[in-house]
Amino acid sequence: MDNTSQQPAPVTTAPQPLQAAPVAVAPVAAPVATAPVVAPVVAAPAAVAAVEPPENEKLKQLKDAILAANVPQMVLIAISYALDLRSSDIHIEPLQNRVRLRYRIDGVLRHVVEYPTNLHPAIVSRIKIMSNLKIDEQRIPQDGRADVTTKEGKQMDLRVSTLPTVNGEKIVMRIQDKSREIPDLSSLGITGTSLKNLNAALAAPNGIIINTGPTGSGKTTTLYSCLSKLNKTEVNILTIEDPVEIQLDGLNQSQVHHDINYSFAMGMRAALRQDPNIIMVGEIRDKETADTAIEASLTGHLVFSTLHTNSAVESLTRLINMGIAPYLLTSSLELIIAQRLVRQVCQKCKKESAVTPEMLEMIKKAMSELKAEGEIEPELLKGMKFYEAVGCDECNHIGYKGRIGLYEVLRMNNEIRNLLSANGTMIQIQEAALKNGMVTLEQAGIVKALQGKTTLEEVYRVARKSE
Ligand SMILES: [Zn+2]
Repeated sequence: MDNTSQQPAPVTTAPQPLQAAPVAVAPVAAPVATAPVVAPVVAAPAAVAAVEPPENEKLKQLKDAILAANVPQMVLIAISYALDLRSSDIHIEPLQNRVRLRYRIDGVLRHVVEYPTNLHPAIVSRIKIMSNLKIDEQRIPQDGRADVTTKEGKQMDLRVSTLPTVNGEKIVMRIQDKSREIPDLSSLGITGTSLKNLNAALAAPNGIIINTGPTGSGKTTTLYSCLSKLNKTEVNILTIEDPVEIQLDGLNQSQVHHDINYSFAMGMRAALRQDPNIIMVGEIRDKETADTAIEASLTGHLVFSTLHTNSAVESLTRLINMGIAPYLLTSSLELIIAQRLVRQVCQKCKKESAVTPEMLEMIKKAMSELKAEGEIEPELLKGMKFYEAVGCDECNHIGYKGRIGLYEVLRMNNEIRNLLSANGTMIQIQEAALKNGMVTLEQAGIVKALQGKTTLEEVYRVARKSE
């Protein structure tokens, strides 16, 4: 698209013509002014069928709306198209002389379309109205939310944030599926010894289970899958979250409120007075929260939480650096899960790819250090076939479809506890963990690549090479 320059500007910046959108509005009964509910269902003509795949039709409609400077349509189609492509975020970014629309799909940003700068103020106003933000405030960041309904009738939560940039306001809309089903642990990609160790920890009456990894590595989903497995009438599960992302029936979920000093640590202390069996605290950010988690574990509770570290072993260093005495860790910590998400290569169009000798050498070295047994089918190790992404209609020409987790699960045992107490180095602890059946993120990724589920490119995008 290069229709940047001489676009006429027949757009009304006033928000009035919103109602004129010739698009089906969600069948919402309540006439009262709640958050505006938009049905990004495009009145697609029935004739879309055979010629082009529907996503291309949607893109064409989006481009038509841009050419016609039909702002309400542009916003609705942009959201609808993002939902079709299973995007997690919509980025609308004013650049120097055009505005760019991108979607994050399976963790990676994809260019969608560009539109002329003169349309941007009206687009921003339209989105601000949808999400109850102040239209006339353009100098400070704002955040709000809106509900949207997909054409399948699913309720989605749209978190909208604006940021003033030198070229105008940038908008990011984060799409969350509130009715998302919680997958079971094996379908997340956790298998073999890692799954066995996790299940053993989940069966323990008390102890701390930590899930670590960068933002967007799927920690929340894994924790919900664990809690969902433990969610029975006989146990009281309390969660302290920031924010509550998915509501699970049977859990008591509480959201922290930093403005009024309702912190994780405060939530943990309150949870302990609520006769809990299992507590999940969103994140251990400080010593106070860590101390309370340890106290909860030592008084007979199973505690789940997250950290932001690169590997399972690094979590131990982080907690010690927070000021936690090693003897407290050895008596409370049960299991650490480090995780990443990789995109799954499209099974319909993937093709076998050649691997450089250096790469093959590296892979062989990593796999030779794999001590856990039964992690991979022996015949897959003999031939060593890898795949690359191509792109077809099935995967919207991306080559990937959906994501799967790589898991590094460290189960505490006496050898690791002794090393921690004796101030052992992280290398020593890593070696002991490997001997005890820990599979590193790199090894877990290579296994998934050999099984044809992902590509080496994806694995090394998220996992470190071993030294
Ligand atoms: Zn494909």
